[in-house]
Parts: sequence; C-alpha cells; structure tokens
Amino acid sequence: MFTLPKLSYSYTDLEPYMSEQTLLFHHTKHHQSYIDNLNKLIQNTEFEDLSLEEIIRQTADDIKYESIFNNAAQTYNHNFFFAHLSPNGAQTPPAELFKGIEKTFGSYEIFKSEFKNAALSQFGSGWAWLAEDGKEHLKILKTSNADTPIAHHLKPLMCIDVWEHAYYLDFQNRRADFIDTFLDHLIKW
Ligand code: MN
Repeated sequence: MFTLPKLSYSYTDLEPYMSEQTLLFHHTKHHQSYIDNLNKLIQNTEFEDLSLEEIIRQTADDIKYESIFNNAAQTYNHNFFFAHLSPNGAQTPPAELFKGIEKTFGSYEIFKSEFKNAALSQFGSGWAWLAEDGKEHLKILKTSNADTPIAHHLKPLMCIDVWEHAYYLDFQNRRADFIDTFLDHLIKW
C-alpha cells in the first residue's frame, strides 16, 4: 500500500514561481490519483509487497502490465519531483556532483542549457532527467509519458515534469518559461 508523501513545504511556499493552485492540484489530485490507481491495480497480485522500484522494473516493457507500470512509474516520478523543489530559491548541486557536472558537460551553465533543451524537446507529455549509470557516468535524458530512468537501470539525480498539468495554470503553453523558472528558482539538489 503506497501513500502520498507529505511535502516538506506548504502549498504557498513556492510562490510566485509555482502557484498554490498548480501545486495543490498536482500533488493532491494528479499525484494522489496515480497512487490510488496503483494500490487498486496491485491488490492481491504478486506485486503487492514489492517496492516501487521493483514493480517498475518487473512491469516495464510488458504490455499486459502497462497500467501497473504507468501508475507505479508516475508515482515514483512525482515522489522524486516534489522532493526536489526548493522553497528557498534555486540550489546548486553538492560539491562532488557539481564537479562531475562540470567534467561531463563543461560547466553548470551548459548543463542547465542541455537539460532545458531535453525538457523543451520532449514531444507531448513526459519528463527530463539527469541520471547516472552504474559506472558513475552522468547523462541527460528525456522520457515519454510515465517512462522513468528506473526502468532503464539508471539512477535519477534530477528531474522536471513537463506534462502540461505541471505548468499550464501558471504558464499556459510557455513550457520554456516554466523550465527556466524551475532551473533559476525552484531546483533543489
Ligand atoms: Mn505531474
């Protein structure tokens, strides 16, 4: 049985960068729905007692488990996203990761620009990520719909939700402005 994680900030704490209305709907309606659906779908199945990560890996790429995968992955992705929003302004990565980002991308500014491009070019609903493979290589990737780095055996380090429900009330069609606002005011490492 999965439950909606409590936020470490209040629904008004991210204003003016993310409105109370956006955060409230996103957390208590969208995120909650994925969790409720997942709990119903796994009840009395072999997935009932598994971790979220195990459910995701065991249902990925299997059409008969598509609904379980989608709701488990969206539960994971939203748990991660809401844990990486800062009510105290944008943060920079911890020192060791910062060095890794500079080594991989050239500079933190270049990383931000490449992350933005991934988020902006995700066609339709999805996510952009910074993730690490088992060999400590950093990579930026974008995923469609519910897909998640967990399904590809990558460790997520950062993400942005670019489903329209994440930004439409505040930014309408201006996804680029939402991504800039996230990177400049909300990102929490
Ligand atoms: Mn979302």
